[in-house]
Amino acid sequence: MRGEPEGDGGAGGGGGGQGLSVAERLYYDAQEMLEFSAEVTDIRLESRANGVNRWQVALDRTAFYPESGGQPWDVGTLEAVARSGARLEVPVLAVVEAGGEVWHVVEKPMTAGTMVTGRVDEARRRDHMQQHTGQHLLSAVLLREMGVETVSFHLGASHMGVESSTIDLSVGSLGREDVVRMEMVVNGLIGEDRRVSVGTVERGEAEAMLARGDLRKLPERVGAIRVVEIDGVEWNACGGTHVGSTGRIGGLVIRRVEKVKQGVRVEFCCGLRAVRAARRDYETVGELGRVLSTGVGELVGKVGGVLEDARAAEKVRRGLLEEMAGFEARTLGDGRVVVVAARSVEYAKVLGGKIAGLGRVGIVRVVEGERGTVVLAAGDGTDCGAVMKVALEVLGARGGGSAGLAQGGVAVEDVERLVGELRGRVGG
Ligand SMILES: [Zn+2]
Repeated sequence: MRGEPEGDGGAGGGGGGQGLSVAERLYYDAQEMLEFSAEVTDIRLESRANGVNRWQVALDRTAFYPESGGQPWDVGTLEAVARSGARLEVPVLAVVEAGGEVWHVVEKPMTAGTMVTGRVDEARRRDHMQQHTGQHLLSAVLLREMGVETVSFHLGASHMGVESSTIDLSVGSLGREDVVRMEMVVNGLIGEDRRVSVGTVERGEAEAMLARGDLRKLPERVGAIRVVEIDGVEWNACGGTHVGSTGRIGGLVIRRVEKVKQGVRVEFCCGLRAVRAARRDYETVGELGRVLSTGVGELVGKVGGVLEDARAAEKVRRGLLEEMAGFEARTLGDGRVVVVAARSVEYAKVLGGKIAGLGRVGIVRVVEGERGTVVLAAGDGTDCGAVMKVALEVLGARGGGSAGLAQGGVAVEDVERLVGELRGRVGG
């Protein structure tokens, strides 16, 4: 789900005050009201799968926000009380909007006329309001400070783990310094605790605001337009849910900037998500420090040093391997063809090369666990690749290599057979 960021936020959400829907939308006018009573007005079957029916229930009023404008739906419960006094609490699994109606997805049917108490999952909703209002502020600051437009918004749905939301910007790149500066400006405005208010304006007035540049976009629908104002920052035609002041966004961090097809994607998170992200990062960095026995401040230099040491050690190791193979090759007795065992495929190849370098033919076998490998190397013009290919075909295996060096892998029990096939073909 990647929604339009503003202008048509809450697409189909009616923009409030439109009177398209039967339901009174409490999430527009009473964003803090997360428990409410309502009457079931309609019910329809959504799907039937694996013996489970999913129903869609409509209410005369609801605080459940349907998926819209990049903001995920609310979850929660609907509780009905029977005449007998028995209580039935049904989880609301999803909330969707269709035909101007808000539909609550449940797995138990509820008949029209039933009175219910709805309870919206508060932690999830507050988290969504934080991320969504944070997005308004970040997009507004990017536009004001850098003239950069936000083209789409995606709110990461989970509030349990660390999960980022993203905006896509119509700009070629966004440098590190700009990222840090935008983050500072946004958090400055969060610290100022600016008021975030919601109102509706008539279409004509909204068009005048658009002409003045006070609004960037307008939804195409007719009727009153719901406008969200961050005091002194921006007006925005939006149908989503928002916190009441910027302070309640609780802080915003930009996590990542990456190039995408149409511009730049910025990952960010707000509030407790930002705290969790910072905590997780610090623990990762702290753990690295413990592993490397160094303070966080010295970590980058330390890792650079470790990598440099590793590269130097690798160079020495490779040199020793070459030297050792050269030495061994010169001690391998007489004859044109020599068969010898090695401990690793890497060493087998180096040793084969050294044997070939002496103008001889080397067959080097290696056993590692269940697998065997045989390296064939020749310095007398033998086409090792072709010989290996034919020898492997006899064993029902495939492989080959270049004229100078070839390698074949077989099961451990076939290693000696492969050596025999190769030997027969190179005339050893
Ligand atoms: Zn909004």
